[in-house]
Amino acid sequence: MAGYTPMILQYLAIKEEAKDAFLFFRLGDFYEMFFDDAILASRELGITLTGREGGAEERIPMCGIPYHAAEGYISRLIEKGYKVAICEQVEDPSAAKGVVRREIVRVVTPGTVMESKSIAEKANNFIVSIAQLEGSFGVASCDLSTGELYVTSFPASVDMLMDEVNVYHPAEIVGDESPLELLKPSAASWNRPVLFTTRDVMDAAKLKEQFKEIDLKGLLPARYRAVSLLTGYLDDTQKRSLGHMRRIHVYEPNQYMILDPFTRRNLELVETVRDRNKKGSLLWLLDRTRTSMGARLLRRWIDKPLLNKALIDERLEAVDKLYHSFILRDELRRELNEIYDLERLVGRVAFGSANGRDLNALKSSLQHVPALTAFCAASESVTLRKLVDGIDDCADLAAMIETVIVDEPPISVREGSLIRAGYDSYLDELREASVNGKKWLADLERQERIATGIRSLKIGYNKVFGYYLEVSKANISMLPEGRYERKQTLTNAERYVTPELKEKERLILEAEDKMVDLEFAKFIKLRDHISIHLHRLQKLAEMLASLDVFQSMATVSADQRFVKPVVTEGFDLIVEDGRHPVVEAVMEGTPFIANSTSLTGDENGSSMLLITGPNMAGKSTYMRQVALVCIMAQIGCFVPAKRAEVPLIDRIFTRIGAADDLIGGQSTFMVEMKDIQTMTEKATSQSLVIIDELGRGTSTGEGMAIAQAVIEYVHHIVGSKALVSTHFHELSHLEETLPSLANACMAVQETGDNVTFLRKLVPGSASSSYGIYCAQLAGLPSSIISRAYTLLESHEAEQEGLQRSLPPLPITADKKELVAVSIQETASAYEASAPTREVFAQIP
Ligand code: ADP
Repeated sequence: MAGYTPMILQYLAIKEEAKDAFLFFRLGDFYEMFFDDAILASRELGITLTGREGGAEERIPMCGIPYHAAEGYISRLIEKGYKVAICEQVEDPSAAKGVVRREIVRVVTPGTVMESKSIAEKANNFIVSIAQLEGSFGVASCDLSTGELYVTSFPASVDMLMDEVNVYHPAEIVGDESPLELLKPSAASWNRPVLFTTRDVMDAAKLKEQFKEIDLKGLLPARYRAVSLLTGYLDDTQKRSLGHMRRIHVYEPNQYMILDPFTRRNLELVETVRDRNKKGSLLWLLDRTRTSMGARLLRRWIDKPLLNKALIDERLEAVDKLYHSFILRDELRRELNEIYDLERLVGRVAFGSANGRDLNALKSSLQHVPALTAFCAASESVTLRKLVDGIDDCADLAAMIETVIVDEPPISVREGSLIRAGYDSYLDELREASVNGKKWLADLERQERIATGIRSLKIGYNKVFGYYLEVSKANISMLPEGRYERKQTLTNAERYVTPELKEKERLILEAEDKMVDLEFAKFIKLRDHISIHLHRLQKLAEMLASLDVFQSMATVSADQRFVKPVVTEGFDLIVEDGRHPVVEAVMEGTPFIANSTSLTGDENGSSMLLITGPNMAGKSTYMRQVALVCIMAQIGCFVPAKRAEVPLIDRIFTRIGAADDLIGGQSTFMVEMKDIQTMTEKATSQSLVIIDELGRGTSTGEGMAIAQAVIEYVHHIVGSKALVSTHFHELSHLEETLPSLANACMAVQETGDNVTFLRKLVPGSASSSYGIYCAQLAGLPSSIISRAYTLLESHEAEQEGLQRSLPPLPITADKKELVAVSIQETASAYEASAPTREVFAQIP
C-alpha cells in the first residue's frame, strides 16, 4: 500500500468494512468507485472506466456517477443482486484539515432497499433470516419498506424450510450457514436472484433497543435467534433507528394451508408458469384493490390460506355483505382511491427520507379515513363494524401537517417554500424581509433607469456575483462616473454593483439562508413528531388494507358470479358446477363449461377420482379448478361455482407436468418420483392430492405399475381427497377393487372424422382411441393411422388378460414396505406380459 495518497488510503480502509459491496465513495458531486469495484461497475452499468493517479506507480482504475443520479444506478445494481455501500463526506470540506472525513452511512441491499424505483408497489420486498438451533429452524421475514416482521419456527426439515421461505418470495436471505447452504440449490429456480449472506452475530442489547415494548423472552429460542440475526444485519447495513419495525407477528406454520413451491407455481397463484407474470394468475383476477397496501395484503392472503373456520367465516361475512351492497362497495372504492400507501409513507418517515409531498400524501389520506370508518360502522357487516370499532383515525396528525406544510411543497426539503405562512412568526419575518428586499430591488431598478436615462437597465442575480445592474455596451457612456463598480463583462453588456445594492444584497441573502435553514428545521421537527406516532398509523394502515381486500374480493365475486362457499370442518368437498376462475375470465367467445365435484368419505361416494381422457380434453384445468376453489374459500373469498361445500384443507399437493424443475438438471421422471415421495410423507387425510399424468416419463409397463401402486397407497394409507389423471386408461379397472375410487373422464363427441372436446366431466373411463383420432386430425398418412388402430386392438386384448392377472393390493399397516412391495409386484406383472414390445415386434 506504500505510496498511495491519503485519500486512497482512506478509501482502502473504508472498503475493508464493505468487502461484499460496491463502495460508492463520495467525492464532491460524484460517487467514485476504484480498483476492482470500478472495473466491475463499469461493466455492469455500462459506464466509462477511467484512471486516476493514486500515488503508486500504476494508475488506479476508476469510474464515477453524479450523486444526483445515484438512485437509478443503485437500483440497477440491486436488481442484479449486488449490495451498494454509500460512503459520504461527513464533515464540511472547507472546515476539514487534510482529507475530508468519510463514513459509510448505509449499505443498500436487495432485501433492504427503500427507494421506490427499486421495489414493486404492489408486492412486499422481504428479507428473510434463518436460524438453526436445537433441532429447529427459525425464520424471520421483514419488509423494511413497511416495517412488517413475521416470525415462526419448526422442526429442522429442508422441505418445510423451502415451503416457508418460498411464501415470502425473498430478495435476500441472511443467517446461519447450514440452512442457507441447504436452500441455495433450490434458489436457482426462484423467480428472482436471491442474495445470501451468512451471519451468526447476535446482539441482545441491540435487540432490546429495537423491540422495547416486546417481551422477547417469550420467543422460542430458534425464533429469538432468527429475529436477532435479522435485526443485527439491518442495524449493520442501515445504520439508523428503524422506528417502524417495533412489532413481531409470531405464527405457527400450521396456522396456514401448506403449499409447496411447485404447487404455488402450478396453480399460478401469484404469477403464471410461462412468463412469471402476474397477469393470468389468481392474484391478477382477484386484485381489484384500490391501494397498494390492499394489493400487498391480498397477495399475502393468497400466499397463506387460513386453516381456522372462524377466521375464514369472519372474512366471508364481510365479503358477503359487500357483495350484496353495490352502494357500499362503490362508496368504499371511491374513498379508498384517495388513500396513498400509508405503510410505505410510514416507512419513509421512520427512515428519515419522507419529504413534504410525502407528508401531504399522508395528510390527505388521513382526511378520507372518517368517511370510510363511518361507512363501515353503519354497514350490516359484523366483521366490518369490528374492523373499525375504536379505530384511531390519527386526525391530530393530519391537522398538524395541515398547519405546518404548504399545499404544494417542492420535492426537496432543503430549499424552502415548505412551511405554511402563519405557522412560525420568525419565519414570517424573514420572509417579509426577503419579499421587501425584492420590492426594494424593483424600486431601485426603476430609480436607476430614471437617473441614468437608460431604459434597458435591469437588475439580475447569479450565484457567483450576486445581485448586479446590467447595462448594454451601447449605453455605457450614459453612466455617471464614480458610483458604479464593474463586476463582470459580457459580450454585449457590463454588470455593475453599487454600495446600496451590496448592502441590501447581504440582508436579502441572509434572510433567505436563514429562511431555508429554519424551514428545514421546522420540517424535521414535524417529521420527528410523526415518527413518535408510527404505531398508530401502522394500525390504521392495516385496517385500511383489510378493508380494501374485502371490497376487492367482493367486487370480483359479484362481477364473476362467484358464490359464498360453506366452509366445514368435515371431510367432504362438494362443488356444484364449478369453474376455473382464471381460464373462465380470459376465455373470449366460447363459454366455460362448468363441472361438478364430489369427493366424499361416505360409503356410496368416492374420495378419489381417476380421470382419463385425451390431451386437451380439459383434465388439468378441472383439477386445478378444484384446488383453486379450496384456496379461494380458505382465504375468505367467494368461489366460482353454483354451490360449494369446502372442508378445511391442510395442504394441497400437486404434481402437474407443466412446470418441471428442468433447471435443477433432473429428469422429469425423477422429479415426479421425488414429489410423490414428499406426498407420501406429508399428505394427511385432510389434504388434497392432485396428480396429473401419473406415471409418464418411463416405460409403459413401469409407468402403469407405479401409477397403480401410488393410487393404491393414497387410497389405503393417506386417505385424502385425490384427483389423479392418467393416459393409462387401462387403470380404470381399479375402480372395481378400490371402494373409494371412481372413474371419470372428459367427454368427447365424435361426428364423422371430427372429435369435439365437450369439456364435460362424466363418470366412466375414456375410450383409448382419441389419441389416434388426434393423429388423424393432425394429418398423419392414412397408412400410419390404420396400422395404429390394428396395433391398438391387439394391445388392448393383451391388456385385458394382464388386468385379470394383477392382484389387488391387501391393506397393511406398514407404509414404506407397502409401496416398495406393491410397485415391484405390479411392475413385474406388467413386464411379464410386455404387451407393447410384443405387438410392435410383429411389424413386418
Ligand atoms: P388436458 O389437461 O386434458 O390436456 P387442459 O386442461 O390443458 O387439457 O385443457 C386444454 C384447454 O381446454 C385449456 O387451455 C382451456 O382453454 C380449454 N378448457 C379446459 N377446460 C375447459 C372448460 N371446462 N370449458 C371450456 N374450456 C376449457
